[in-house]
Amino acid sequence: MPRLLILGGTSEARELGERLAARADLAVTISLAGRTARPAPQAVAVRVGGFGGTAGLADYLGRQRIDALIDATHPFAVTIATHAAAAATAVSIPLLALKRPPWQPVEGDRWRDVADRAAAVAATGTTPRRIFLALGRQDLGPFELAPQHTYLVRSVDPVSPPLRLERVTYVCARGPFSEADDRALLSAHRIDAVVAKNSGGPATYSKIAAARSLGLKVIMIARPAAPAVPTVETVAEAIAWLDHDHAFTAAKDRGV
Ligand code: NAP
Repeated sequence: MPRLLILGGTSEARELGERLAARADLAVTISLAGRTARPAPQAVAVRVGGFGGTAGLADYLGRQRIDALIDATHPFAVTIATHAAAAATAVSIPLLALKRPPWQPVEGDRWRDVADRAAAVAATGTTPRRIFLALGRQDLGPFELAPQHTYLVRSVDPVSPPLRLERVTYVCARGPFSEADDRALLSAHRIDAVVAKNSGGPATYSKIAAARSLGLKVIMIARPAAPAVPTVETVAEAIAWLDHDHAFTAAKDRGV
């Protein structure tokens, strides 16, 4: 039976696993980095932890006799995306990237687009403000360079060690959140600016919609450049690729 590895850690990867779980013609495994202590349940087999760079991933693909790879990791997870491109080439299996499109500003949005986290820190300015950092735990460190602000940080697991900043409120919660939830959160903490990554997708859009409705500025961090590989934006397109494109040519050639 053809074997598919999905590099996950996103709602799209989980949904793709759910859509493929019942298929008798495909053996599917999802790989998670192991960043969250209690990851959301998956409908297919799961392996957890890094592979050990490109060579480790190529070795895993070979040993597990994986026939096709779908990189459904987060659009900001470019290290694993780069490793996936190199490893798939090394073992000659097809690779598809499943990456949701970025958000686009709509009427009423007050976005300031910045290139990266350092530029986001600079864009917060020198005047003390109340800022919601809608970022992953690994993105927070650069804000220690801007101790003049008061921060609100929301994360799935606690931020440990805490930031070396005097004025931070930590909220532990797992999304998705509604726009009303996020409006209430931003109002309760008297937030006047939001820092966000342009992740795209509906799951984390509530804070962007809430900021718009409250007239708040959003410092929006652009996506990093991704490797040039065949890419689709939806789970349905990824399934079409599996079924109709060349994903399992290698398996068929081997007579699997
Ligand atoms: P990254 O910087 O691109 O990757 C760092 C290392 O983590 C990789 O070199 C790899 O280790 C390991 N890794 C990443 N994704 C993996 C996966 N799905 N399975 C096995 N190992 C993986 O990634 P990141 O930005 O830290 O993100 C880590 C995970 O969180 C990703 O799976 C991503 O989908 C998810 N996520 C990220 C963000 C974000 O904003 N970056 C947001 C939501 C979810 P080795 O080199 O040892 O193989």
